[in-house]
Amino acid sequence: MTHAQLLFNPGIKTKAVKKGDEYVINGGKMWTTNGTQADWMCLLANTSDGPPHRNKSLICLPMNLPGVHVARKINKIGMWSSDTAEVFFDDVHVPCKNIIGQEGMGFTYQMLQFQEERLWAVANIVTTMDNIIQETIDYTRQRKIFKQPVLYHQAVHFRLAELQTEVELLRSLLYRASAMYIKGNDVTKLASMAKLKGGRLARELSDSCLQYWGGMGYTSEVPVSRFYRDSRLMSIGAGADEVMLGIICKYMDTLPKK
Ligand SMILES: Cc1cc2nc3c(=O)[nH]c(=O)nc-3n(C[C@H](O)[C@H](O)[C@H](O)COP(=O)(O)OP(=O)(O)OC[C@H]3O[C@@H](n4cnc5c(N)ncnc54)[C@H](O)[C@@H]3O)c2cc1C
Repeated sequence: MTHAQLLFNPGIKTKAVKKGDEYVINGGKMWTTNGTQADWMCLLANTSDGPPHRNKSLICLPMNLPGVHVARKINKIGMWSSDTAEVFFDDVHVPCKNIIGQEGMGFTYQMLQFQEERLWAVANIVTTMDNIIQETIDYTRQRKIFKQPVLYHQAVHFRLAELQTEVELLRSLLYRASAMYIKGNDVTKLASMAKLKGGRLARELSDSCLQYWGGMGYTSEVPVSRFYRDSRLMSIGAGADEVMLGIICKYMDTLPKK
């Protein structure tokens, strides 16, 4: 069963109002991964008017209910193997039993889930980074300019060595944070650092590697160009780099007091 993914927007306006043993949902969701094909979505909606950290709940929402409108499939620069939809809810009736956990705990659940989502994002990208470096090595070894492989330029093999070193450092951080998480620790700080570093390294690595493929790198025929497009999302999705920096600063107690 396919499900649409939920992330967190603190400015959520979608409301789920309890009427009898149902919630009546009105609002919308701009970014919904798998939204055009999902059977259900995990929706974060306001279930009361209380403070923003206590007024949200997670609701399992079947996508075939009357009033669920998939308005459009969003045209993106990358991540074409996964659709992203804008969805609206117009008086959608959902049984109250579809709530996930306790009412009003949605924000807390979402914050806990973000640790896993951000670690997953990093785990998902480190092997691809290895592969892109290896494919760049293979390509530049056989691509000769004036009888010399592109790889033999020190600027190229040193840069690839630097990038591989960065990938190994990121992998170590990922393993450390994952091991701590499995033992039951709060790893929000380390997971945010890993996600930040993963996004930035993906941008550096995809740009450098694509460069060494020359014109071939600018075609849609090689994986490096797809990685260049797809991996750009890493610094934006699941919380932008700046949001990660804010979380890290919070844990370092360096945010200005209001
Ligand atoms: C392909 C794709 C799929 C997605 N799928 C889902 C999904 O399934 N479910 C879901 O819920 N969401 C999804 N999202 C939404 C995604 O999580 C958001 O796009 C992301 O969190 C950034 O939020 P925003 O787009 O509202 O950017 P904004 O909040 O408008 O931020 C814009 C920019 O402002 C800057 N900025 C933001 N906050 C700060 C700050 N505190 N300090 C300094 N600068 C700041 C950053 O540079 C940021 O990129 C998806 C997005 C994309 C592009």
